[in-house]
Amino acid sequence: MKLTAITASNYYHKIKETGRNTTGSFLPPSCNSLCADKVTFSGTPKNLFIKDMRELPSLGCGCCGIKMLKNSSVNNFLNKKIYYPASIALKRIKIEKYFNESHASEEMKEAYNYLKEYAEQYPHLTINDILAKRTVKDKRKQLPKEVSQAFDEIREITKLVAHNSKYMVDEITKLNPDFHKIEKRVFKELQSLAQDYPDETFFDILNKPQIKKIYLTKLQDKQLNVLKIAEEAAQNLPDNLKVKIIENIEKARNIFTEESGDILHKRSRVISSFNSIFSTDDKSKIAGEEIMQIINQLPDSKTDVNSFLIKGAQKSSNAIVEILLSRVRSTYEHVKPHHREGDNGASNISNYIALCGKCNSERQRTGYDIFTQLHPEMIDNAQAQIDKIIYFINSGILIGHDNYPQKIQKALDIESKGKIKVNIDKLDITKAKINRKLRQEVFAEEQKKENKKPKIFKFGKGYFYKKILQKPEKHK
Ligand SMILES: [Zn+2]
Repeated sequence: MKLTAITASNYYHKIKETGRNTTGSFLPPSCNSLCADKVTFSGTPKNLFIKDMRELPSLGCGCCGIKMLKNSSVNNFLNKKIYYPASIALKRIKIEKYFNESHASEEMKEAYNYLKEYAEQYPHLTINDILAKRTVKDKRKQLPKEVSQAFDEIREITKLVAHNSKYMVDEITKLNPDFHKIEKRVFKELQSLAQDYPDETFFDILNKPQIKKIYLTKLQDKQLNVLKIAEEAAQNLPDNLKVKIIENIEKARNIFTEESGDILHKRSRVISSFNSIFSTDDKSKIAGEEIMQIINQLPDSKTDVNSFLIKGAQKSSNAIVEILLSRVRSTYEHVKPHHREGDNGASNISNYIALCGKCNSERQRTGYDIFTQLHPEMIDNAQAQIDKIIYFINSGILIGHDNYPQKIQKALDIESKGKIKVNIDKLDITKAKINRKLRQEVFAEEQKKENKKPKIFKFGKGYFYKKILQKPEKHK
């Protein structure tokens, strides 16, 4: 069923001309000044209302401003495009020797066999789909804890089974994410590798010695360069400190060049070794500040393409895609941090803004007064996000958020110590209520046309629509 032809806007004007809406009641006089926004009922009627702001189309990150991918789009993409259906993945983890039954514990065997049986019954489901089934959840509750945990372990193993690189880059291209700078360059690199080795997985390609060497050499050059700059800066420090720093730089050089290719944790080991030099007394701490600033410039997988690819080579093909997408997906960010000592921020929408995964993980618990010094663009981008959210509230699309702008305005003000002051003057709940009603009515009309018995609508009960519109899930 399609509702694309009707917009709330032209429907609204139709009512304005006749002075009546479809139920025959006159609109209140205040409505004449309102002009409903041009809103299309695009796609599935499931989108008649949106209840979760992470699901708003093309919402800009409240910090960096990039267009985020909807949370559900990323989930669907991973589940339907990237992971294999469980029926295939469970077979392949054996063939590709990720899971060796003869060495597996009894718990793992039991979990594997249960999942395999289920997957054969429903061959199109992914392992995530299966684990989300009520029957499976109930079954797990009855099982010993170790067996239940083994279900999750099997799930993680199935994620190692991957499509070839050509398929991966084609699918990501179709999704068209608005990547950040580094991720854009990573993806470009993956595209070029996929051209050279279309039938192999990212994991296999990145682990080819000749390819790994290219990225590792580039990464080491950067690491050594940072150490060289630190060495130069150390020359101006008091002798006792200088000696310690130079010694430590030498150690760091060895860590980066002479140890195994396993780069996980190397950077954090080096940084903490420098921190320990300067943490002894206040004097050395101040002297070390400049050195620490330089050392913190050591490339990592968030700031450097080579580091990303080397780390990716130690994870899996699917993990690479997951990480790339997680950085542009829309996530809830606690304005007042959730884990602030003695004073936790609430986990509900009055304390959430939507940030991309990258900004969310960067912020951690930093107060916005400090964070906005590093990211001054946040002040404008938070406003742009609130504007868009208000637009969707006024249009009658985003429901359950009528009090949100006011609450978030206050939360941002407090958390940023007055630096982020958003304007919410455009919020118009009267308009929102009218538009919601219009949307319901248009929707009901369409239902009638399709000879479906009109049913009572209730806000905040998304499953009502699902019940009407979607046939119950059935699988062969
Ligand atoms: Zn961001």
